[in-house]
Amino acid sequence: MTQDVTMSLTFVVEPNAHPLSAAQRADLLVDPGFGRVFTDHMAIVRYSTDKGWHDARITARSPVTLEPAASVLHYAQEIFEGLKAYRRPQGAALFRPDANARRFRASARRLAMPELPEELFLESVRALVKADIDWIPQDEDGALYLRPFMFASEVFLGVKPASEYLYIVMASSVGRYFKGGPRAVSLWVTREYTRAAPGGTGAAKCGGNYAASLAAQADAISRGCDQVVFLDAAERRWIEELGGMNIFFVFDDGSIATPPLDGTILPGVTRDSILTLARDAGIAAREERYSIEQWQADAASGRLTEAFACGTAAVVTPIGRVQGEGIDFTINGERVGPTTQRIREALVAIQRGTAPDPHDWVEEL
Ligand code: PMP
Repeated sequence: MTQDVTMSLTFVVEPNAHPLSAAQRADLLVDPGFGRVFTDHMAIVRYSTDKGWHDARITARSPVTLEPAASVLHYAQEIFEGLKAYRRPQGAALFRPDANARRFRASARRLAMPELPEELFLESVRALVKADIDWIPQDEDGALYLRPFMFASEVFLGVKPASEYLYIVMASSVGRYFKGGPRAVSLWVTREYTRAAPGGTGAAKCGGNYAASLAAQADAISRGCDQVVFLDAAERRWIEELGGMNIFFVFDDGSIATPPLDGTILPGVTRDSILTLARDAGIAAREERYSIEQWQADAASGRLTEAFACGTAAVVTPIGRVQGEGIDFTINGERVGPTTQRIREALVAIQRGTAPDPHDWVEEL
């Protein structure tokens, strides 16, 4: 495994010989939704234990052929990332791509995969955004969602870390996540399923975590809720996170809190950014365990005034109702609360370049 985090390769650019026409692209960008519209190119880098990282290219987005014995199809050695590029008057901007590069390395370590050098991750993302910059929607809520991922491509059925991998970045034009602006979502608290156990892969962004969350998410939907919220595996008591978002609580003394990074939740870039922005604004922001019983009691007493979920895709989303076995309460009349709104606006303004960027989070391309 390479530990050289600074190593870089030059991406050979092979322009797509048959890109969509400007008119076809414009049609797709009218209402792209989320994760359905893909751009003309992808970035690709290969890895083998013999050659290390090699063959870095920006090329036409195309199907990937795999042998049926490719080990990812059997043992799920796969990790991914998600970040956005935003439109700027002169080009595009990335939000904290270095944080995603670091998390990708951490995920690779946990899945016994080679660690992609951070500079190579950053170069792959920059080069793809430059190639497909016209795919960033004009709409101010639109963005280019970037999906770097890596999987074991070795043709071998033995259970061991693979010796060959493919790293790919694709890009998807996305519009606003929730049509009609952010609305409060409802959560189902599952006691039946857990997402991650101590010592497991909860802190890694690996496909297996999401596969394991789907039955719980489907259960939430069947009960009329939008999202599932997971509790800790040991006591089924402490709130962890949603299937694809971290969670924050807002209290009547103006403070906010989020579950700590104990190894079973994903260390969200949005979560980290919100903790920093809140503290900048003089808001007390704690990382502490919070139980479902306490949440219900605090919502009833009025100590808890708002709650929201956060992540790259949905940014900041208010939580309006919480249901589960023996649990049913609403928060702030299922409306967007003032602290949620303020935090959302502060974050979006930095991402969109309409406010100063005191922490150097934005990289202009
Ligand atoms: N938790 C999970 C399980 C997620 O999939 C995501 C989305 N990456 C998040 C939290 C939020 O992370 P981020 O803010 O980095 O998008």
